[in-house]
Amino acid sequence: MKKKLIAGNWKMNGSAAANAALVEALRAGLAGASCQMAICVPAVYLSQVAQLVQNSDIGLGAQDVSAYDSGAYTGEISAAMLRECGVRYVIVGHSERRQYHGETDATVAVKTQKALAAGVTPIVCVGETLAEREAGKTEEVVKRQLAAVIHTNGHCISEIVVAYEPVWAIGTGKTATPAQAQEVHAVLRAQLLAATPHAERMHILYGGSMNASNAAELLAQKDIDGGLVGGASLKAPDFLAIAAAA
Ligand code: PGA
Repeated sequence: MKKKLIAGNWKMNGSAAANAALVEALRAGLAGASCQMAICVPAVYLSQVAQLVQNSDIGLGAQDVSAYDSGAYTGEISAAMLRECGVRYVIVGHSERRQYHGETDATVAVKTQKALAAGVTPIVCVGETLAEREAGKTEEVVKRQLAAVIHTNGHCISEIVVAYEPVWAIGTGKTATPAQAQEVHAVLRAQLLAATPHAERMHILYGGSMNASNAAELLAQKDIDGGLVGGASLKAPDFLAIAAAA
């Protein structure tokens, strides 16, 4: 059976001391967990956290990657650099990057391609805003966002992880109901099935105010294969409780 994947997105949080304490608590509490776990940390801490997770089952992840390979791109970090730091996963197209950094579907598709080419698993985020949901456009939006990535990444598409993150549920405490989430996950699964024979073994994560109390019900849905967890990934007991629910 496919193991669930629980990925933490630390966003712009952490410090050398806090990271060490958090990872130590995760390592201590993770023994015997049956899910896969990853933590996506700020780029400056990748090397530190790579050391901290050594010889554990915690996969190291980054939060963004450049759409370019190398050269005059001040401030950018390439997929090859991430790989060299021991990174296994990278979040691509998070709604905060789409919203505050002008990332388009096309940029997200190229970043996905760069990650795949470097041997880093992209966690591709899709999701509708509240206005889009209220206008009945949820399905249209997530399909368009995923189609851009499928179209650009062709036969490698089975190597990505998809994360459905309704924008209105991120950091708001408003979680999608299990039924609302499953409905969208089923749409995404069908889209993947049309693109690859491996769609059933792929992970489609739910993200948006997932916490210790709502995780079990969300993760019990047929097409929810794990979670992308923001706020609750910063507290070891909460994150471990989500992992235990998986
Ligand atoms: P949240 O964030 O769990 O704090 O809502 C999820 C995310 O943005 O990945």
